[in-house]
Amino acid sequence: MVNSSLPKIDRDVLMQGIVEGITKFESEFPLENFRKGDYKQHPIITLLTCSDSRMPVNVFGSIFNRIFSVENIGNQFRSSEGSVLYGLLHLHTPLMIVAGHTDCGAIAAAESNFVNEPMGIRNELSIVKDSLDTARRLYNVSNDESDLKYTLMSEVNVDMQVNYLLANPEVSELVKDKELLIIGVMVDLHNHYGEGYGRTYTININGERDTGKLKYDKELGLMAERAKRLS
Ligand SMILES: [Zn+2]
Repeated sequence: MVNSSLPKIDRDVLMQGIVEGITKFESEFPLENFRKGDYKQHPIITLLTCSDSRMPVNVFGSIFNRIFSVENIGNQFRSSEGSVLYGLLHLHTPLMIVAGHTDCGAIAAAESNFVNEPMGIRNELSIVKDSLDTARRLYNVSNDESDLKYTLMSEVNVDMQVNYLLANPEVSELVKDKELLIIGVMVDLHNHYGEGYGRTYTININGERDTGKLKYDKELGLMAERAKRLS
């Protein structure tokens, strides 16, 4: 997981970028909208995604007061269970997105020997590893040794997070009552799905993994056209 070829960054350039970001946020701050909502947060999406910097939260549209985002390595429900449940059970977002991606460093690290990592990293990687081991048993994942190996594991890792969510009685009740839709997606950063770089695919809805069925799921709307998986 350690990047050995860190690019040299000029500190002034780095700080300039941050100041530009802050200034842009200040100048575009949507005060009127914020006021209308009594200055409270009213997100409509709880997002569980990987911390990977190639997976920006704005893949799913505007962020401010719209996306309650939870990010950790390998997009694990159990690493941030409280934060995810807060979005669903207290903020009542009608949509939950679990997002995985190609070439996930956390998936690769969890599949390797990580005993020499610091305890904090070991703890989180153990959670990822357990998700992957359980997924292997459950889904009969092929022992693919090609470049797609980690992408296949990333897919079933997303499936597992949807399973963990549905195992929570309150969450599954919301899904049953159609107050919550859980969408599992894969962001294809590396064109592993063969339709272009940076495309997002729907791989799981409320636990349903059959893309043949997902394509005709009316609840999904336009996202139904994006139903595609490799595993
Ligand atoms: Zn990742």
